Amino acid sequence: MRSEMSTSPSPKPRICKAPRESQAARATRTLNVAGVLADTYANATCALRHNSAFQLLAATILSAQCTDERVNMVTPELFREYPTPQALAEARQEDVERIVQSTGFFRAKANSLRGMAQGLVERFDGKVPRSLEDLVTLPGVGRKTANVVLGTVYGIASGVVVDTHVTRITNLLALTTHRDAVKIELDLMKLLPETEWVDFSHRLIHHGRKICIARRPKCTECPLLPLCPRVGLPELGVTGSDGPAAAKKTSKK
Ligand code: SF4
Repeated sequence: MRSEMSTSPSPKPRICKAPRESQAARATRTLNVAGVLADTYANATCALRHNSAFQLLAATILSAQCTDERVNMVTPELFREYPTPQALAEARQEDVERIVQSTGFFRAKANSLRGMAQGLVERFDGKVPRSLEDLVTLPGVGRKTANVVLGTVYGIASGVVVDTHVTRITNLLALTTHRDAVKIELDLMKLLPETEWVDFSHRLIHHGRKICIARRPKCTECPLLPLCPRVGLPELGVTGSDGPAAAKKTSKK
């Protein structure tokens, strides 16, 4: 028979909420976040290997729903077989599919790659255009891909690249409440000066790979902790597994 005196369940950890702050205060905090990221990841740049705007455009199309490491494994063969937009525009669908198969959604991606190359040849003289409006007319190219190419290759700040890392971390940081990439981008463009747009997302993506990892963020090692409300995560120390308070408790004997 179970005892009436059974131990009461441990209290549920409190979940962190977004702070109440003005837009001006949030903009100042965002700039401070950008400063810490700049100090921590000074040389962060795009992880997709490329030697030209055309190559980065192709690699970014392949990176949808796929890791950069996997993309970097298939692009050497792709660029060797099809070194120019003209060559890729004339490629056979099945040959491109075979090369990009391991990146997932390979039929759609091969289709987009050939369509993108044909668009470059037919409408842009075989060159990658330097405007977001032109780039997004190419098959497989959305705002994110266009921002990656314009910012990384041409140094043009057309917007802020928002991928899964940027989506996750900007919500944790309470820089946005949105999950939609375009809405997040608009929020970040209001909070950051244009000069920060390109580097901010490169650095945040590195941070997402190294420290603020999905489902297991290393908050106690994170240089952003003093600036981060950790929205949606349990309060540090309450779960007993993480955080400075927990670390202090376990060190006290
Ligand atoms: S403090 Fe935690 S949640 Fe906030 S950015 Fe750092 S690792 Fe991510």
